[in-house]
Amino acid sequence: MRLRVEQDVFVVRQMGREVARAVGMEQQDQTRLATALSEVGRVMLTFGHGADVTFEAVPSGVPTLRVKVVNSHPGDAAEVRMQLGQVGRLVDTLEVSDDEAGTVVGMARRLPASVPRLTPERMDDIRAGLAQHVPGTPLDELSVQNQQLIAALDEVRAQRDDLSRLNAELEETNRGVMALYNQLSQELEETNRGVVALYAELDEKSEQLRTVSEAKSRFLANVSHELRAPVTAVIGLARLLGDPASEPLGDEQRRQVDLISSSANDLLTLVNDLLDLAKAEAGRIEPEWSEVDLRAVFGQLRGTLRPLATRPEVDFMVEEPSPLSLSLYTDEVLLARVLRNLLTNAIKFTAEGEVRLAVRTVDDDIEFTVSDTGTGIPAELHERIFEEFYQVPRSRAITGKGTGLGLPYARRLVGILGGGLRVDSEPGRGSTFTVRLPLTRP
Ligand code: ADP
Repeated sequence: MRLRVEQDVFVVRQMGREVARAVGMEQQDQTRLATALSEVGRVMLTFGHGADVTFEAVPSGVPTLRVKVVNSHPGDAAEVRMQLGQVGRLVDTLEVSDDEAGTVVGMARRLPASVPRLTPERMDDIRAGLAQHVPGTPLDELSVQNQQLIAALDEVRAQRDDLSRLNAELEETNRGVMALYNQLSQELEETNRGVVALYAELDEKSEQLRTVSEAKSRFLANVSHELRAPVTAVIGLARLLGDPASEPLGDEQRRQVDLISSSANDLLTLVNDLLDLAKAEAGRIEPEWSEVDLRAVFGQLRGTLRPLATRPEVDFMVEEPSPLSLSLYTDEVLLARVLRNLLTNAIKFTAEGEVRLAVRTVDDDIEFTVSDTGTGIPAELHERIFEEFYQVPRSRAITGKGTGLGLPYARRLVGILGGGLRVDSEPGRGSTFTVRLPLTRP
């Protein structure tokens, strides 16, 4: 297109919009390109040389529409560039340069990705359409321009309204979030206060418990100590009464004296057990640590317990430690007391099969197992049997009686030695009590 007189600027503007529409640009981009083109045309005309305008569609790569405006007067580039000012913002690229033919202004704008491909046939159609285009008068163009301006202003207003609505929504959301946050932090604070109070109460309760437990231990220790002397006296007196050197007794009298004697013996066992437990609980047991040779301990246990395991249906086995020289750092007397206690129980509750003591090392620990093929203990009572005086209901000892104090005492002692005592057992299949102690001093 030629640009020679002012009126041509309107025609070029119209044609720019038409070309932009024909190659598929959106409405707003059409206006942008048309506006940029009319600005460039207006500026070029002010130099008084006229100009030629060429439209070029680039179909390859990102499809682009290029417009070139050339006047035949080299050397105006710097001035043109200055006057075009903000026009570059309307297109993707705007370049102004001088070449030998004249001053060249090149603009380009990418087409939307969704436009149909610019095939040669389509280009022919576009060209044919444009050739038939009858340019309107400047007044027509002014009217189109006004319409576009109104539409643009409307859009701006709609966007401003949208923006203020969004702002209001955002503010509302913020207020909601703040309220929620305040509520949550209030709740958290309250919960924290509750937790702190609860802890204080717990501390108080455990302090009370400790005091009560100490009082109980003290009481048990005192009472059992005081009971021991009279009970021993009763046993002595009963023995004297039954002594053949004393006055002879009638049959009924002898039976009664035997009854007194056996009851007093039971009582003495109970008193002794209570005293032991009370001492252990009061922390009055100080272990005497030394390197303990297990072979010797096992030998002693074998010797002292064999007389209890008299039933031919039950094999009583104390295995040899392996290696034979196995030793550990502990209190020999307390360890022997624990193992004797467990072995006595096993013998007591086993009618047939075997009772076995074994030892092995596990990592840095040593494990003693006392296993039997006796009555066994239901799973739900595995912890209860370590409570004072607890005895499994209906589990009658095959030999001897008990006080229900042996296991709590054994567990205390193992604790004092720095280890743990646990049980695995199933009714009818037997029980295994395991004492785990550190090999070296804890
Ligand atoms: P007790 O003096 O009654 O033996 P313990 O504290 O030693 O007291 O044991 C508590 C209870 O645990 C026993 O009365 C018995 O019911 C159960 N018990 C302990 N050892 C065994 C075992 N080896 N087999 C079956 N039951 C056992």
